[in-house]
Amino acid sequence: MATLNLDELKSLLEVTNSKLRDLEKLDLNVDMTRGKPSFEQIRLSRDILTNIDEEVFDRNPNIFNYGIGDGIEEAKQLFASMLEVRSDEIYVGGNSSLNLMYDTMLKAMYFGMVDSNRPWMKEDTVKFICPVPGYDRHFAICESLGIEMITVDMTPNGPDMDAVEALVKEDASIKGIWCVPKYSNPDGAIYSKETIERLASMETAAKDFKIFYDNAYAVHFLDGEFIEQESMLEACKNAGNPNRVIIFASTSKITFPGAGVGVISANRESLDYMEKLIAAQSISQDKVNQLRHVLFLKDFDTLLEHMKKQAAILKPKFDIVLDSLKSTVADERIATWSNPRGGYFISVDTYPGCAKKIEEECARLGLKITKAGSTYPYYDNPKDNNLRIAPSFLGRSDLVQAMDVFTTVLQKIAIEEMLKNEQ
Ligand code: PMP
Repeated sequence: MATLNLDELKSLLEVTNSKLRDLEKLDLNVDMTRGKPSFEQIRLSRDILTNIDEEVFDRNPNIFNYGIGDGIEEAKQLFASMLEVRSDEIYVGGNSSLNLMYDTMLKAMYFGMVDSNRPWMKEDTVKFICPVPGYDRHFAICESLGIEMITVDMTPNGPDMDAVEALVKEDASIKGIWCVPKYSNPDGAIYSKETIERLASMETAAKDFKIFYDNAYAVHFLDGEFIEQESMLEACKNAGNPNRVIIFASTSKITFPGAGVGVISANRESLDYMEKLIAAQSISQDKVNQLRHVLFLKDFDTLLEHMKKQAAILKPKFDIVLDSLKSTVADERIATWSNPRGGYFISVDTYPGCAKKIEEECARLGLKITKAGSTYPYYDNPKDNNLRIAPSFLGRSDLVQAMDVFTTVLQKIAIEEMLKNEQ
């Protein structure tokens, strides 16, 4: 991409401002804040609602009663194949993985984890490493429980491991790290084998250090190709730290968000500990929904076929976003962006000091985008330069218009900021 000189930037700003005046007339009212599947995607899973007939009902009496608190065996097998773990290393929960993450963190605070000397809340401070940009709801969990967040930068291969290793080796109050290992939210990073092995084997001052491994996008490819990834649980076992990782996942973006199935996977010793605590809290999760999901998704191959249908709907939307950025942004200092192979987001890094202004200007023109700063703990991005684009929910024509507004605003604000700094 070119680097424009001062005169070129000034004339581009004029063109951009005149385009913006036209876009103002659109009277847009579009919400692109969250990564929600579109109705067309939701419809793919409609059969879930009708797949329990008389015969299935009669054949599975235990599923429609209390009991089997850790989930039905068929669901364990399905999720084990998805997460590349053993089926006895799976706990099948309720409708949300985020709920399981919050719950696990709360249990760690209140009771400690399997290898803790005491509950985390009895420590003077509890800290978590948050790779940035990252997922706002992970940060919200830490914030609501008073867990201090320390940022490290993401790279295309996962968190900056030199920084992570240096931090956890020295500071025993760092109890864990958030990870989204595949098509991470928002930058689409795929953790490399080296990253996974370093996380599994690194020396940690806290002996009960935990990797909260949110594998929300394990099968969410855009290009039709499932990517195998080194198993974090195996890596932890091989490194002699079998209880270090707790894996979370759900079918929220496979079937119905908010009405899917959430799971935890961990070493048996860790799971035993957590299941004992859960036993005081619940007699049974929603096994009917687990059964429906098993009947619908059947096995790993059928699940992948289903995800190919999802990808066929999603990929053209990602292409609209990427094409719009590519055809509008005229200087690499204005913005760079991720080009993900899967997941739900595109991460845009703008010229520093622009993200909030871009969000505000988009809102003025009727386009709501994810709040600037939300990819950082406490909404505090010191460079104010990162925005998350969520293209999944909008229809084609809304998305084209939304991106027209977004890229034009991005260009305007960034050039203005650049010119200000030049003078
Ligand atoms: N983790 C990540 C990384 C996500 O992006 C999302 C949804 N946007 C979730 C978890 C939420 O999952 P659930 O619906 O299972 O709570």
